[in-house]
Amino acid sequence: MNNHKGTLIVISGPSGVGKGTVVNMLLQRLKDAVLSVSCTTRAPREGEKNGKSYFFISKETFLKMIDEGGFLEYSNHFENYYGTPRFFVEQKLEEDKDVILEIDVDGAANVKKQFPDALLLMITPPSREELVRRLKLRGTEDEVLIEQRLRRADYEMSRSNFYDYTVINDDLEQTVENILKIVENRRKGIK
Ligand code: 5GP
Repeated sequence: MNNHKGTLIVISGPSGVGKGTVVNMLLQRLKDAVLSVSCTTRAPREGEKNGKSYFFISKETFLKMIDEGGFLEYSNHFENYYGTPRFFVEQKLEEDKDVILEIDVDGAANVKKQFPDALLLMITPPSREELVRRLKLRGTEDEVLIEQRLRRADYEMSRSNFYDYTVINDDLEQTVENILKIVENRRKGIK
């Protein structure tokens, strides 16, 4: 199962840390890397497109996919389900492509069980204050949701020692450079 050449790159980090931007920059610079688009039961935010940000599906469909073994992993938080469609990831790895998963810490733990050679990267903010500032700046959520996301952020960051690397997203360009170096070293077999 794990005799593919492509690397499974798992990127986690609290909401508002800038994961989305980092991932988009990585996709532009990593030749042969593809992004796994997750399924979610949460409502789309403004500007999010179905099939690009997520596949926005009903809870009923999500539960059916769980039953059919359609997810590589899934988790449930903020009262919504999030899951990685299994077929796409397995197919791309077979094709020796690198596959990027942007998923939470619970999902990452599940992936690691199935793909022990997956590269787990945690992106953290320079400080908690900075995370609060970024979440408020995003302006897509109200105060209660921001509080909820901050509590979740504390949980996510408390699990960072489980990851292969923690990358602090202070300067975006530097963050991307650091990750590219880590991926390159992994390909060369350097820990
Ligand atoms: P958001 O609602 O802000 O887009 O995402 C909330 C959280 O769900 C983030 O931590 C994000 O990384 C995580 N997430 C997104 N897709 C998946 C997935 O397929 N599986 C898991 N386990 N978490 C996901």
